[in-house]
Amino acid sequence: MKINFANLPKAYLEHKESIDKAMSEVVSSSRFIMGEEVTKLEDALQNYTKTNFAISCSSGTDALLLAMMGLGIKPGDEVITSPFTFIATAETIAFLGAIPVFVDIDEVTYNLDVKQIEGKITNKTKAIMPVSLYGQVADMDEINNLAQKYNLPVIEDAAQSFGATYKEKKSCNLSTIGCTSFFPAKPLGCFGDGGALFTNDEVLAEKMKSMRVHGQTKRYMHKYIGMGGRLDTLQAAVLLEKLKHYDKDVERRQKVALKYTEHLKEIVVTPVVKHYNTSVWAQYSIRVNDREEIQSKLKEKGIPTAVHYPKPLHLQECFQYLGYTEGDFPISEKVSKEIMSLPMNPYLTDIEIEYITKELKELL
Ligand SMILES: *Cc1c(COP(=O)(O)O)cnc(C)c1O
Repeated sequence: MKINFANLPKAYLEHKESIDKAMSEVVSSSRFIMGEEVTKLEDALQNYTKTNFAISCSSGTDALLLAMMGLGIKPGDEVITSPFTFIATAETIAFLGAIPVFVDIDEVTYNLDVKQIEGKITNKTKAIMPVSLYGQVADMDEINNLAQKYNLPVIEDAAQSFGATYKEKKSCNLSTIGCTSFFPAKPLGCFGDGGALFTNDEVLAEKMKSMRVHGQTKRYMHKYIGMGGRLDTLQAAVLLEKLKHYDKDVERRQKVALKYTEHLKEIVVTPVVKHYNTSVWAQYSIRVNDREEIQSKLKEKGIPTAVHYPKPLHLQECFQYLGYTEGDFPISEKVSKEIMSLPMNPYLTDIEIEYITKELKELL
């Protein structure tokens, strides 16, 4: 049997007709930049998350950049975040000349260990940036309470969690700014790069919206230093179509996750979703020993796997200048050695899940 990890072709083929039509309309109109689909998508994203403002942009990475630019994060400022995440989270902090200050993760959810945040707050701290890893939000009430105590904004890196809920409220609408990604392999993916920012703060929304288009307020009038960070109309058109079916996709992902857990919970560490959360399962990640061997044996059986992520950020070459060493964040280090993601997409069948879990059980 040959298993597809994310099954992007199927995601297209399922809605080929409506997506083709939407794309061809954009091409016919040739309004490739800021066409009406962009505004329509932003309205739909606002509705979906119940935020007052949704601003589409060119990628999840650029969403993080625009969020920090909007908040006025400057060189030398400190931003508290997780070392167990995709590089973009901390890279964007460093790109602005600010300093990523890492806090270790919780061993159960792999999100920021909230208890350790306060100890890292200094007078240079300018924001807290929790990551909603694998599709599950961190304990935002606790993070927000702490942020309020020190008068700090909170940026949710929700690149993997669009559509997830925390205490019935949608991810991206849980903090000062939420940033998501529509990279093709994310739960809601477009046909290239894309992202969005969410906030309920009107002043911040206006500023980030302006910064997305070179800080302009009127054509060729520039109030801020910004960037070229717009979402293509074509991507907006694709997302508008895909958003219509997104809840169903999420439901199917949740069913796949449930089945995986039923089959595997007795033999490996399976993911835990807190009772107040729902996950959109950007990844279904388990923990194993001898990961490389298991991966290559599964590959022989037609089962692709991936590792999110093999090296925590504090040990990355590009961050050597921050001065961290091995042992600084023991949970992140341990988890990065054991974590392994199984195929996850809405189209995995029961037979495929049984095949994957049976092969895996035999190896363990
Ligand atoms: C994917 C991802 C990003 C970056 O999003 P892009 O759209 O690829 O730029 C940032 N943070 C996390 C946690 C991600 O998974």
